[in-house]
Amino acid sequence: MAEYFDPQVSLAIDMIRYAKKIVVFTGAGISTDSGIPDFRSQGGLWEKYNPLKYANYNVFLKKPEFYWQLEQELQPIFSNAKPNKSHKLLVTLEKKGKLTAIITQNMDNFHQDAGSKVPIIEIHGNAHKAHCMDCGFIIKRSYITKRLKAGISVPKCSKCGGRIKTDVVLFNEPIAEDLLEEATKYAEQCDIFMVLGSSLSVFPANQIPLLARKAGAKLIFINRDPTYMDKYASLRLLGELGTYLPLVINEI
Ligand SMILES: [Zn+2]
Repeated sequence: MAEYFDPQVSLAIDMIRYAKKIVVFTGAGISTDSGIPDFRSQGGLWEKYNPLKYANYNVFLKKPEFYWQLEQELQPIFSNAKPNKSHKLLVTLEKKGKLTAIITQNMDNFHQDAGSKVPIIEIHGNAHKAHCMDCGFIIKRSYITKRLKAGISVPKCSKCGGRIKTDVVLFNEPIAEDLLEEATKYAEQCDIFMVLGSSLSVFPANQIPLLARKAGAKLIFINRDPTYMDKYASLRLLGELGTYLPLVINEI
């Protein structure tokens, strides 16, 4: 197959083969093959629902109904989606004893669902988890889904009637310091930091690859589109993750 003679792919295979500690950083691009669209892309969800209204922490605190309206829209997209072969290939990489952590910007729980056992640091939270902002009660996702399906515009805590929030990090919501610290710790201890399917456009998550590089790691990017951080990558594969990742991981 012609792809195997792509010198960039060969180089990626060699780099990973000789690496001892690899950290993978995933973005929306790894989940598009599962049918989860990239909200930021052209024609994406954020064009229909302005995130500064529907997914904004400050708006949510005053008018949570906008966020729940967005959830209504997302429900059918997320409920049937499953991890794809790229998520599973990261489990393969883990079994080879090289993967030390996954840092993800996604909230879809696919790395866990695929069977990854390494620490998974969800910088932007997890859409499958929710809690009561008033009493801290852990709310089941199925409870929320049921309420929304029943036409309730703002679901309330089943225990105290308080405000429910999913564990998704909204716009203008600060990211938990301990998550960033943990991600940084792994990034600074790896010899290869792979960015898979991320446009690296969201701060502060997009600083993590640079911290890895500063600490001596080599960066490998596999992305459909160029990013403004490509100049920092030791190696860049530009194309579909679903095409490149098997070529690289299956050869290690
Ligand atoms: Zn409560």
